[in-house]
Amino acid sequence: MGLGLRRSVDRVTSISRLLDRHRTLSFEFFPPKTEAAALGLRATVDTLEKLEPDFVSITYGAGGTTRGTTRDTVIEMCLDRDFPAMPHLTCVGHSHAEIHDLVDDYQSEGVHNVLALAGDLPADGSPNPGDFRYASELVEVLRERTEMCIGVAAFPEVHPRSESRESDRRHLAEKLSMADFAITQFFFDPDVYFRMVDELAALGCDKPIIPGVIPVLNPDSVKRFADMNGSKISADLWASLERASDPDELVEIAVDAATDMISTLIEGGAPGIHIYSLNRADAVVRICDRIDLRQGL
Ligand code: FAD
Repeated sequence: MGLGLRRSVDRVTSISRLLDRHRTLSFEFFPPKTEAAALGLRATVDTLEKLEPDFVSITYGAGGTTRGTTRDTVIEMCLDRDFPAMPHLTCVGHSHAEIHDLVDDYQSEGVHNVLALAGDLPADGSPNPGDFRYASELVEVLRERTEMCIGVAAFPEVHPRSESRESDRRHLAEKLSMADFAITQFFFDPDVYFRMVDELAALGCDKPIIPGVIPVLNPDSVKRFADMNGSKISADLWASLERASDPDELVEIAVDAATDMISTLIEGGAPGIHIYSLNRADAVVRICDRIDLRQGL
């Protein structure tokens, strides 16, 4: 991939400054639940660090269930690694006081970036809904209270709770006007990403929107998430995954599909590529070996 010269000598920690300089490469991880999983994640990150990611992000369990482990994973990575780690933070179910405590803690630990999300309440409505409804309310609090660089979520295929495509794009453009950049939900047709970027541009929004790409290493679980998020898996890709006769072939198909999509996204001018790693290094390494992030720059 020839990434050696992408990172400049000084250590830039604000993702928006990195995006100003070049097309970024980033990976998403989820916080480990056990000591064994923590060791596994460290090994994955040791391997992926060689790809020189610009940043990584760590998810936040629905309703704040991984509050402590997300925080500890982010802070450990920020201290030990040569790239910034960005916590995901969801507001639904939290009080203002809880959010203030969390972001004050992150700031005091030197965390410079945050992905501000609504999150989802469990289907039974518990815990209590909290003080926030929409991610934009969290972005407002973060802007007032911190100097952090703020990312938000974008849904190329429209968020399933939206009243309409038009209202979803309008709310996203408003949210992005206060934030610095967005990362998208995963999708399988590059056209849905380019269409969203055009729709936002028509609303006067030109903030960087980093496409999120998932290698389909676990088809059943990816399909479950895709159904929840309104992401359509192409019939051709699904048929090839179903035809895979062993795990190695499945990984090969997933890597091919993700690589093709990333190449199209890069050709079309995407400002970065965010790979949902599923805490595994193998497929991500193979994808990154085949792509050229500097293409077209
Ligand atoms: P919002 O921006 O609040 O939008 C949600 C819906 O409300 C949309 O339909 C929007 O159009 C609508 N809306 C927004 N503002 C208004 C308004 N003022 N009036 C009326 N309607 C409005 N979830 C987790 O629990 N943990 C994670 O770590 C996590 N990471 C994610 C990372 C990425 C990159 C993405 C794309 C999603 C992630 N999610 C995560 C999922 C996300 O929290 C849920 O999909 C959630 O339902 C929507 O979050 P949002 O921030 O886009 O919400």
